[in-house]
Amino acid sequence: MPHPDFRNEPFTDFADPANAAAMERALAEVRGQLGRTYPLIIGGERITAERTIASTNPARPSEVVGYASCATAEQARRAVEVAYERFDSWRKVPAEERAALLFRVAEEMRRRKFELAAWIIYEVSKNWVEADADVAEAIDFCEYYAREMLRLAGPQRVYPLPGERDELRYIPLGAGVAIPPWNFPLAITTGLTVAPLVAGNTVVLKPSPRSPVVAAKLMEVLEAAGVPAGVVNFVTGEDAEIGDVLVDHPLARFISFTGSKEVGIRIYERAAKVHPGQRWLKRAVLEMGGKDTIVVDETADLDAAAEGIVQSAFGFQGQKCSACSRVVAVEPVYDTLLQKVVERARRLNVGDPAANANLGAVIDGRALEKVRRYLEIGRQEGRLVLGGELPDGAEGYFVPPTIFADVAPDARLAQEEIFGPVLAFIKARDFDEALAIANNTEYGLTGGVFSRDRERLRRAAEDFHVGNLYLNRKITGAMVGAHPFGGFNMSGTDSKTGGPDYLLLFLQGKSIAEKL
Ligand code: NAD
Repeated sequence: MPHPDFRNEPFTDFADPANAAAMERALAEVRGQLGRTYPLIIGGERITAERTIASTNPARPSEVVGYASCATAEQARRAVEVAYERFDSWRKVPAEERAALLFRVAEEMRRRKFELAAWIIYEVSKNWVEADADVAEAIDFCEYYAREMLRLAGPQRVYPLPGERDELRYIPLGAGVAIPPWNFPLAITTGLTVAPLVAGNTVVLKPSPRSPVVAAKLMEVLEAAGVPAGVVNFVTGEDAEIGDVLVDHPLARFISFTGSKEVGIRIYERAAKVHPGQRWLKRAVLEMGGKDTIVVDETADLDAAAEGIVQSAFGFQGQKCSACSRVVAVEPVYDTLLQKVVERARRLNVGDPAANANLGAVIDGRALEKVRRYLEIGRQEGRLVLGGELPDGAEGYFVPPTIFADVAPDARLAQEEIFGPVLAFIKARDFDEALAIANNTEYGLTGGVFSRDRERLRRAAEDFHVGNLYLNRKITGAMVGAHPFGGFNMSGTDSKTGGPDYLLLFLQGKSIAEKL
């Protein structure tokens, strides 16, 4: 029986030679398995399509990590229909059994921890620590949501009328579609799948075409742990062919999406449309992008601030929704802080994450092109103080840590999500102005303040309008259980993954009153 209290999965210490050796072994073993083809899985049936998408290693694009089958629109529809048919029996499986299943999923992930990290390293170019954290978070989601379901499974508090037995219980919604991004290819994919699952729903999982192989590994883990056929269905393919089909399907009861603002808005609008034969209003849980800011005032510990900024801005090449892409520093400390950040960022090395470089490559050629455009924009809008040049002739999609100083608060570099290792420094007169600048984007995901002034920290807690605020620490690396995660405004529906309200998004309350 698992421990009654939730505890975060510990991170692997790679300074321990035994762990480093285990990681090297896993990388070598997984390298021998690259290039395989992965089927769709619909109702337990494996279907290998004629057409496939090649998922390549961003650090070595000539290396195919694996091929994902391209579902047709018809197969995508069929997946929703199978999930719908399967719902009626899955919803009756007792919550204790569904929770036990998630504990087994977590156990299976622990057993394959180094191997799963190796797949993440090859497919999305995370370094060892980032890949290990991705696996740990996936384990945390299973352990946390299993316990949450046990808490929510019993009768809820009501105030019974005299002469009645009154009850409120939570029941699942139905069959839903989970659409994760590629940047936490195991953690977010797991969270979006197992939360509805443990709540008694059935799922069609449609991973990103940029990270389908890690998602296929998750399916292996789910099957090994005993998730019955049809309860989670696996559909990969081109978004243009199957995205709308899944979202629009009248039998889909909910859509759970994490990704960009543009796609999130599209899904929001489409999910609102009621199609012929549809008997409910779809629920759409949408977590989207960020333009996340760290504010530094004149009372702050500037070394701690510089350290937190560098970790938040450049960890995983800046490709986290929570990544710091703007620093707003007050005038008296602006130059010193900038210098400290540049010194630290300069020490980061960029290269093959399998060899554990600090920064790997950005996800693909499209991402590299986007970053290249912002490097040009940055040259017009700011003063380049670090990086800014893409390496000549490199095979992988490498971008050096880049910092632009003296960026205006309303510049494109200060407003648009770049999703790469590009940081803008903005100068403010004082703390008041810094806070106003911090709130000036359409997003509201993460934010941070470095200050020793308690009154200012209190004000930030009240007025800095972000879903996840961090004081005197980095703004990435939210921990399941401790930091329920999700943003305001155009960052999404603030679903707070890894928090006590999350499972309610996949449940509905049923009130039962019986006359005695
Ligand atoms: P994306 O929007 O391009 O894709 C997200 C998912 O949507 C993928 O599975 C993709 O295949 C799918 N998709 C694309 N078009 C679709 C369509 N028309 N219909 C249905 N599905 C479609 O985002 P991405 O590049 O995978 O991820 C990066 C983005 O995700 C960034 O904006 C980042 O900030 C955001 N993100 C947010 C959070 C959060 O918790 N708020 C976490 C991680 C990433």
